[in-house]
Amino acid sequence: MKEDTRLTCKGRDPASNHGIINPPVYHASTVIFPTVQELRNYEQHKIRYGRSGTPTSFALEELVCDLEGGYGAKLTPSGLNAIATALLCYTAAGDHILLADSVYHPTKGFCADVLSRFNIEITYYDPLIGGDIKQLIKPNTKLIFTESPGSLTFEVQDIPAIAEAAHARDCIVMLDNTWSAGVYFKPFAHGVDVSIQAATKYIGGHADAMMGVIIANQQHWPVLEKGHRRLGVCAAPDDIYLTLRGARSLKVRLAQHQKNALELAHWLSTRPEVARIIHPALPGCPGHDIWRRDFTGSSGLFSIVLNPYDRKKTDAMLNSLKLFAMGYSWGGYESLIVPFNPKATREHIDWPDKGQALRIHAGLEDIEDLKADLEAGFGHL
Ligand SMILES: *Cc1c(COP(=O)(O)O)cnc(C)c1O
Repeated sequence: MKEDTRLTCKGRDPASNHGIINPPVYHASTVIFPTVQELRNYEQHKIRYGRSGTPTSFALEELVCDLEGGYGAKLTPSGLNAIATALLCYTAAGDHILLADSVYHPTKGFCADVLSRFNIEITYYDPLIGGDIKQLIKPNTKLIFTESPGSLTFEVQDIPAIAEAAHARDCIVMLDNTWSAGVYFKPFAHGVDVSIQAATKYIGGHADAMMGVIIANQQHWPVLEKGHRRLGVCAAPDDIYLTLRGARSLKVRLAQHQKNALELAHWLSTRPEVARIIHPALPGCPGHDIWRRDFTGSSGLFSIVLNPYDRKKTDAMLNSLKLFAMGYSWGGYESLIVPFNPKATREHIDWPDKGQALRIHAGLEDIEDLKADLEAGFGHL
């Protein structure tokens, strides 16, 4: 079956549920066993304790695993927890890991404040390094963490080249695939071993549930399965249900996010207030050629840099916007905007701009309303 069909069919089985379309929300801690013999066979039961999974969690795992093209999937209570859990599963004291300098900032925080306490050495690399990453691989390098495109600055990484260098030295390639939602980039077809997503963003898609997913290929599945169990990680049933419900419309929503973001980006590129656009699908974005080669589409998140204006004016512009609300996160149905300063959090970045950088999430509103809102805001500049 094609992907649109699978997104409507995976993770549900009406025949086992009174003919009801959607799987029920199982709230569970204790699971009871009718006989002492069955109790003794605890490990053999797929459903044995709330934390180890219910038909509700299995449903979302089945759907995201299929979407990303992996072998097995696990859920976590947030996207950041998916990153933390995955890193804890695959690393040990004395290991060295390579982390793209462009990653979601809290990923760096986890590595710096938690992994480093376990004597794990971290090196940040230029996200545009490609196959030259082989020069940074040391005998104890265990894992290369990628995020493509990068948070805020949207560098598209050459994942196949990084994977080739990594696998030649027995390193695991991990990807934060949140931007593509698993729709526009298929990680396992490009050499990724373990993919994670903040399903809080596009998969859930309605700004109402926190959820993380970790998907592994066959080779790396047993370690994930066991590590996730040992860490006691589990996601909440109502949030799983909301995420599964959001996933049914993922592709139609993304198509509209894509369309609105591209139209906005093209329009912004004609505005005298805007110095440059950083959108993976537009030339001028670092790694745009790789995006063309490896991705099948673009989502709703991109950045722009304004010409240099007095801070008071850009603040007045942001405060005046009616449809572009300010808030961290993205992937919901609504438009968002946040100012950022990449130099504050980066080791490797060429950022000559003096103007304010803004990250924009194009929501599902009418494009003319979105343009009018920004145009009125630009009046303050
Ligand atoms: C939001 C985000 C996360 C973290 O997800 P939460 O569900 O908010 O914990 C991780 N990676 C990226 C790229 C994100 O944008």
